[in-house]
Amino acid sequence: MDRGGTTVWVWGDQLHRDLAHLRDRDPGATRVLMVVSDRKLTERPWHRQKLHLVVTAMRRFAAELADEGFAVDLRRAPSMRAGLAAHLDAHAPDAVVAMEPASRAGTATLGRLDVELVPNDHFLCHWEEFAAFTAGRRRTTMEDFYRWRRAATGWLMDGEEPVGGRWNLDAENRRPPHAGLATEAAEVPPVVDPPDALDADLATWLPADVRTFGAPWDGTWATSRTQALARLERFVTRVLPRFGDHQDAMVAGAWHLNHSLLSHALNLGLLHPREVCEAVVAEHDAGRAPLNAVEGFLRQVLGWREYLWGVSRTAPDDYADENALGADQPLPPALTGAAPTEMRCLADTLTSVHDHAYAHHIQRLMVLANLATLAGVQPRALTEWMHGAFVDAYDWVMVPNVIGMGTFADGGRVATKPYVSGGAYVDRMSQGYCGDCRYDRSKRTGPDACPFTTLYWDVLDRNRDVLRGNNRLAQPYANLGRLGDLPQIRERAAEVRAALAAGTL
Ligand code: SF4
Repeated sequence: MDRGGTTVWVWGDQLHRDLAHLRDRDPGATRVLMVVSDRKLTERPWHRQKLHLVVTAMRRFAAELADEGFAVDLRRAPSMRAGLAAHLDAHAPDAVVAMEPASRAGTATLGRLDVELVPNDHFLCHWEEFAAFTAGRRRTTMEDFYRWRRAATGWLMDGEEPVGGRWNLDAENRRPPHAGLATEAAEVPPVVDPPDALDADLATWLPADVRTFGAPWDGTWATSRTQALARLERFVTRVLPRFGDHQDAMVAGAWHLNHSLLSHALNLGLLHPREVCEAVVAEHDAGRAPLNAVEGFLRQVLGWREYLWGVSRTAPDDYADENALGADQPLPPALTGAAPTEMRCLADTLTSVHDHAYAHHIQRLMVLANLATLAGVQPRALTEWMHGAFVDAYDWVMVPNVIGMGTFADGGRVATKPYVSGGAYVDRMSQGYCGDCRYDRSKRTGPDACPFTTLYWDVLDRNRDVLRGNNRLAQPYANLGRLGDLPQIRERAAEVRAALAAGTL
């Protein structure tokens, strides 16, 4: 089929044969277009592993489709638009069809290009269903949404009631690390695929001016569905039974602990959330995984992941630029690797990011985003950096995670209060952080004061106008009112923010 016919345009995060764009397609009668866009690859600095993952997964998927009999046009182009134009010139299809992109910007782009869209079914709840559910409500929390989806899917349900009598076992997912946690996690190392010829041949797909950082590719992340299924099998059979208790724990030098390491495959399309959720629920039903582990995982995928997609698609147009706390500081050079840091918790988290393009969720929330919120770092700058740094980051997931959950920049659309803490929380939930740190997590003033502890009081002080009316912050503000050293805290906080910006903290 050289000319005419139908072209299905497959985007780089839609790499699944059973999604709406490809499910019912006859390989012999369908042409597939895939575009590796120079503009996308140069729009921000990327971690080398993220870049490798996305481009290589596209190439493997293109090869699989070609093996199946599809006519595949995988091309590098200056932009997505230019890639389509070149394809139209070469093949003159009668129609170009695509699955609605996950991001609003992507959908708008295709809307301008006369491409026929089919609804995105890479999620369990389409955002239009989300919009209908939230319509007329003053606010819809993740918990509201999650219970609705549990009832809709029947997962972990006993009739109309949740299995075990409680919807949410979060209190049983937040135990501090125990002495053997890192050793226990190391017993089940990540699946690693040795690089092959395709992995070795990435450079020809990259523009000369691409900006990269971080450690090179080491085969940790799945670039094909077969590889993704091997990682799902590892998690479900070997890690899931241990997943429940320590989801919020941090241990120095133990980068993956008992986390699933599946988010990259889910967000690329190599795995579908339905098969992942069904697999973990089946383990519970068979008595092989405890309820707090399975419920906690389901809450992340069926709850948070889907909720954030709905938020990203229904929030105001300028949502990514919201900044309720007026945070105006630039991205600290410690995050970009331009400066070292003596903050042990931050250094360990950034080592994980450098080595693996990954930090687990509590490092992202309570170290990186917490520090950014406390120090007044521009939320948009943090979003951009995280998008390039994390192997699982895309616009639709990063914007609500940072603007809503991480930094409270949306003023409370997603989170009911800012997720901020001082050093005491980090100490309680970690091993090998505060005890080995140059700073003292119990001090809020003086040169040895923990930056988190100082800035925690300072951020409450600086943002009284916005935050004081929040019922969930009544106790912290009562405690702030009892501090006798607020002038010294303000002084030290100014020093800490300056040192963070200068890369000397
Ligand atoms: Fe992090 Fe403060 Fe603990 Fe150091 S003392 S590891 S900066 S929380």
